Amino acid sequence: MGDSSGRLLLAKVVEPGFCSGCGLCAGICPSSSLMMEYNGKKELVPHIKGHCSGCALCLNVCPFSGEGKSIDEVSEGLYGHLPGVGRLVEAGWFISAQEGHACRGDFRSKGASGGMASWFLTKVLKDGIADAVLSAGPDKARPGSWTFVRTEKPEDVVSLAGSVYHPVPFDEAFRAIMSEPPGIRLSVVALPCLAYGLRKAMRKIPLLGERIVLLASLTCGLMPTHRYSEYVSLESGVLPEEMGYINFRLPPDEPDSGNYRHVAISRDGVPGKPVSVKGIPDFLWGHGCFIQGGCLVCDDVFGETADVVFMDAWLPEYARDTKGNSIVLCRSLLADSIVKGGVSSGECRLRETAGERLLRSQVQTLWIKRLLLQGRLAKLEAEGLEYPRRRVVPDMKVYRENEKYFLLCERLKKAVEELPLETFEDLESFRNIVGHLMVDGADQ
Ligand SMILES: Cc1cc2nc3c(=O)[nH]c(=O)nc-3n(C[C@H](O)[C@H](O)[C@H](O)COP(=O)(O)OP(=O)(O)OC[C@H]3O[C@@H](n4cnc5c(N)ncnc54)[C@H](O)[C@@H]3O)c2cc1C
Ligand code: SF4
Ligand code: SF4
Repeated sequence: MGDSSGRLLLAKVVEPGFCSGCGLCAGICPSSSLMMEYNGKKELVPHIKGHCSGCALCLNVCPFSGEGKSIDEVSEGLYGHLPGVGRLVEAGWFISAQEGHACRGDFRSKGASGGMASWFLTKVLKDGIADAVLSAGPDKARPGSWTFVRTEKPEDVVSLAGSVYHPVPFDEAFRAIMSEPPGIRLSVVALPCLAYGLRKAMRKIPLLGERIVLLASLTCGLMPTHRYSEYVSLESGVLPEEMGYINFRLPPDEPDSGNYRHVAISRDGVPGKPVSVKGIPDFLWGHGCFIQGGCLVCDDVFGETADVVFMDAWLPEYARDTKGNSIVLCRSLLADSIVKGGVSSGECRLRETAGERLLRSQVQTLWIKRLLLQGRLAKLEAEGLEYPRRRVVPDMKVYRENEKYFLLCERLKKAVEELPLETFEDLESFRNIVGHLMVDGADQ
């Protein structure tokens, strides 16, 4: 690859806008020549800072580089041979799918959904399966940012419950894992793109593979940029420069589980006013605004390369149950036995979920990340642009059928990227301009 591998990564993935901000490339770079920084759109992306030795590790592990084994090859190799395993095209291989919630302690009240992820991670520690867990939490050294936090005590795991709708780069965590003492066993919670990149890295660097004994994932319906946090902070009444962190999953204050709230907390620890997500117009996530570029070409909804996956049970029966409900997808025998153990001990209340219910629970995410992706890729192809290897087939018919939506997305995205969002006055004009674009788009 010569000494241009880092630049090739930038040219192939970052510059065309296909980076999800996972930070794996910066973490794995042996010459520390890549650094994660925000670009003008407030996406977190790698920048070249030093001499690139040309090792090509960054390119090999990047989930969007098209290098190495595909998601399907990796997941089939890990789980395709297991007894009792089944497969859904949209969800990958799995042994069991169950819906319900954690019963004891404060997992459910603190968790984003049914608290199953925190319960599971706690169990992994208590049963001595891993010595520590790495999952997302506020970055104490850099207020307004999030990082991977290492926890060894079950109570600390619970303190990190909730969803981080902000890029969480893995670069520092990667370096920290490599300098852990011999014999350490870790469990990592990664979004699907990071999980896939980590799987590729675990093959390249066997020590990493020995250390990560259990990889968990969250179902993912697009990752917002830092700009989304600035917007939420203003809506919450906290200036972005004074924001310490955001609790993205404050429970709803009405019987509608989908209307959870965001609340920004100032650097002095003062909470702003909660913002109901349904009060934020659909132009945001639904139109791909405030979204890391890579997410708009991502076709992995269910973390297909992770041992276990946690998600919201977005099903009609739970629509009014604001205590929260999860679906847990187990791909490995170890994950399955941990979850089944929780059911027999009465720590979790779960029942089997049929494949059709699993897909129904993610119908919106599947529409954006699988169906509309066919149209997005067809448009890129028509413009003669290259894009990362994907599993969905480009289809111009999908683009044409949704052309009005795609054109509105483009206009909104441009406005959202360009409008300042630093002051409450900025917020007012932002709302006006974007609101008008929405009305005009709907009229066309
Ligand atoms: C960007 C994003 C998009 C999502 N999209 C969907 C979706 O479309 N459909 C759906 O059903 N679910 C989605 N989820 C998952 C959902 O928000 C919950 O995280 C999931 O249901 C687990 O809830 P829980 O109560 O079981 O977990 P909790 O008990 O709340 O524990 C969650 C664990 O995940 C860790 N974590 C949270 N955010 C991150 C992150 N960004 N990176 C790494 N670790 C993290 C926390 O540190 C904690 O350990 C998304 C999550 C994220 C972060
Ligand atoms: S997706 Fe991850 S590995 Fe790829 S360029 Fe972006 S930060 Fe680096
Ligand atoms: S949508 Fe895909 S690329 Fe974006 S954060 Fe989620 S898993 Fe990663």
